[in-house]
Amino acid sequence: MRRPLIVGNWKMNGTCENAKQLLADLLSGLGNDGTREVGVCIPYVLIPAAAEQLADTAIALGAQNVGDHEAGAFTGEVSASMLKEFGCRLAIVGHSERRALYHESNEMVAARYSQSIAHGIQPILCVGETLEQRDDDKTFDVVGEQLSAVLNTSGEESLFSAVIAYEPVWAIGTGVTASVDQAQEVHAFIRNRVAELDKEAAEQVRILYGGSVKPDNAAGLFAMPDIDGGLIGGASLDAGAFLAICGAAQAGE
Ligand code: PEP
Repeated sequence: MRRPLIVGNWKMNGTCENAKQLLADLLSGLGNDGTREVGVCIPYVLIPAAAEQLADTAIALGAQNVGDHEAGAFTGEVSASMLKEFGCRLAIVGHSERRALYHESNEMVAARYSQSIAHGIQPILCVGETLEQRDDDKTFDVVGEQLSAVLNTSGEESLFSAVIAYEPVWAIGTGVTASVDQAQEVHAFIRNRVAELDKEAAEQVRILYGGSVKPDNAAGLFAMPDIDGGLIGGASLDAGAFLAICGAAQAGE
């Protein structure tokens, strides 16, 4: 049985003050009954303070990216070992905003994923198609290639220590959510693709849905057989909304 996982992606939002308040609100609102896991992927500079606040709590701390090398002359990058030192347990890799705005290729995403695995940080590998690619019937090709690039580098066994997030680009931050059937179809495709390589990994890997998840659409999505939780952008900045989404994961088990 896969335990649902809900992860907030704060993107480039937050101050020391309001991050502290948001985390405090989440900590007091979340039960700790173990039926689902919760994480937050926050801006790098907020990580040290959050690491103290979240130590020994039920909320896993995460980053929104991770360096593609061990160490060295890579200005602006933060390595997996640095994140580990601050208690990060999760790192998003291959978010569509990184792919589109910062031209991160499948190969670079694969290197970031591999660094993350090597340092014991669970990568959340984001995959997803643009609207144009969907309209051209290329969804499965695009998602399949994004997945293969990573598995060719790190092997399917890496999926025992990773999470996949299907995030259709056209649904991110747009208020347009994939229908439950559209989402389930791609999640099933991903799981079947993994199963061709390793049945146990396919059974075990959590595949999150991301793209305009809100309290009113979360339960329907999380009830689908291959949707194991969500990667939540905008709604993760509002404690009430994020807690309601976490609650939906519990109910949708
Ligand atoms: C995201 O950025 O990963 C995301 C899913 O954003 P939103 O929930 O705002 O669509």
